[in-house]
Amino acid sequence: MCNLTFFAWPVCLAGTFLVAAAAYVILCRWRVTPTLDPVVFHHFPLIRKTVVTYDTAMYRFGLSDPDSVLGVPVGHHVKVMAYFDGKPISRSYTPVSAVDDRGHFDLLVKSYPSGHVSKMFDELTLGDKINVCGPKGRYEHRPDLHTHLGMIAGGTGLAPMLAVIRCVLGNRADKTRLHLIFANTRAEDILLRRELDELSATRPNFTVYYVLSHPPAQWDGGVGHVDEWTIRKHLPAPGRGVKILLSGSKPMMAAMTQYCEAIGHGRPQRPPRSEDRVFVF
Ligand SMILES: Cc1cc2nc3c(=O)[nH]c(=O)nc-3n(C[C@H](O)[C@H](O)[C@H](O)COP(=O)(O)OP(=O)(O)OC[C@H]3O[C@@H](n4cnc5c(N)ncnc54)[C@H](O)[C@@H]3O)c2cc1C
Repeated sequence: MCNLTFFAWPVCLAGTFLVAAAAYVILCRWRVTPTLDPVVFHHFPLIRKTVVTYDTAMYRFGLSDPDSVLGVPVGHHVKVMAYFDGKPISRSYTPVSAVDDRGHFDLLVKSYPSGHVSKMFDELTLGDKINVCGPKGRYEHRPDLHTHLGMIAGGTGLAPMLAVIRCVLGNRADKTRLHLIFANTRAEDILLRRELDELSATRPNFTVYYVLSHPPAQWDGGVGHVDEWTIRKHLPAPGRGVKILLSGSKPMMAAMTQYCEAIGHGRPQRPPRSEDRVFVF
């Protein structure tokens, strides 16, 4: 008995030490350090650029700590600021990387030839830094919050939808059903079509319907602008657990808001609240 106690103490101490050391290593490895500040701009270097279409690219920026996360909730956005003739100009962009991605974040940006900040993106070379602050936004997602999310996006309005789509489909426990109407001018403008098509073919809780104002000769999607009939046909009807998300140009959002109200989904509020049945990003 006496001998057992004599040997048990060192063994217990060594075991406790090992468990504590392992816990410390795991906590250090998995600690989640948000990187952004809501008002102070921080600088992040471009570490990868992937061309998506003739005018749009996916830009990956590195975080200084490879174990940290950006700290932007799904569907929220950041401000990117650049100087033009000595004056600061900032614009909003929605990260499309997963909220728990470590060491980097991705922005999907369409560059306009006469745009200020969007053109600056196109001119970046690897290692160049951008100024970012955030997060901004009011959208809230939880797996138990909605049964159906109906989404209408135009062009780069896909960005917040993509963040939500990747978040929902990246969590097998999230049973939210997603229905996307994606409007563009021509087929070559459709962003990340391969990824969207693959997801709709493989994931039962995701559907996508494309609408083009200038479709090619062979086209089985919608033609013209998204109208009330298209929304009635491709998005869930109003009801408990149903929410409609809108993202795109101002004129498109004005039209979609009217259609959604006529269908009975309700009106988006200004400023938007996460509990609204129609939410404009
Ligand atoms: C909440 C929010 C999130 C956003 N997220 C994204 C995102 O993830 N990715 C993204 O690419 N954009 C996003 N935007 C749009 C982005 O903020 C800028 O408005 C866009 O990049 C243009 O900025 P700019 O400084 O280059 O152009 P500006 O200097 O504002 O405009 C200069 C000229 O560029 C052209 N131009 C600018 N915008 C448009 C347009 N929409 N259509 C046609 N011509 C235009 C026009 O010729 C205009 O006169 C988001 C906007 C908001 C409000």
